[in-house]
Amino acid sequence: MARYTGPVCRLCRRDGMKLFLKGTRCDTAKCAFERRDSPPGMHTGRRGKPTDYAIHLREKQKVKHYYGVLERQFRRYFAEAERQQGNTGDNLLTLLERRLDNVVHRLGFGLSRAQARQMVNHGHITINGTTCDIPSYQVRPGDVIRVRNRASSLECVRQALGEGQGRDIPDYLSVDRDGVPEGIVGRIPGPDDISLPVQTQLIVELCSR
Ligand code: SF4
Repeated sequence: MARYTGPVCRLCRRDGMKLFLKGTRCDTAKCAFERRDSPPGMHTGRRGKPTDYAIHLREKQKVKHYYGVLERQFRRYFAEAERQQGNTGDNLLTLLERRLDNVVHRLGFGLSRAQARQMVNHGHITINGTTCDIPSYQVRPGDVIRVRNRASSLECVRQALGEGQGRDIPDYLSVDRDGVPEGIVGRIPGPDDISLPVQTQLIVELCSR
């Protein structure tokens, strides 16, 4: 499967943190952020103190880049998070974490979220026995996410599982790598399951203005 090779590393340097957008490369010394963590471009040291708006915006951009969603989708997730009971910031992260492409990546079936999304788009993944090609599908407790039992699907997933060996699987998921790989969603993910260090309160303040 073709890997996404766009300038994603610029996003990590701009957001000031590793967003793990490039699969196994992110864990090696080739990581562009490890080599140089300043923002992209020349004269980056001359930038002044960020404004309050820039600090708020940075937090939102981190989340968008991490989960690979665009502004319109993000606004929809935020509106849904506001409608739900509880903390809006936590609701927002939970909605994003429950995306099928994210879960496929977290199970190790795709090395990056971009690769996982492509796998879903190309029909390599089934939910409860039915092919699902909607990356934004919201997984539910009890959902069984299985790789389609055909050579092309199994090949790319086994390759990803091999290359991503040793990666942690979050507690809300369980995975069976033998035979046709499959994962089960044990429960709705909570804030503790999400490893992205982000101040969701700043996002809520920004999007509520
Ligand atoms: Fe970010 Fe490093 Fe991965 Fe590039 S290789 S996407 S800089 S974490």
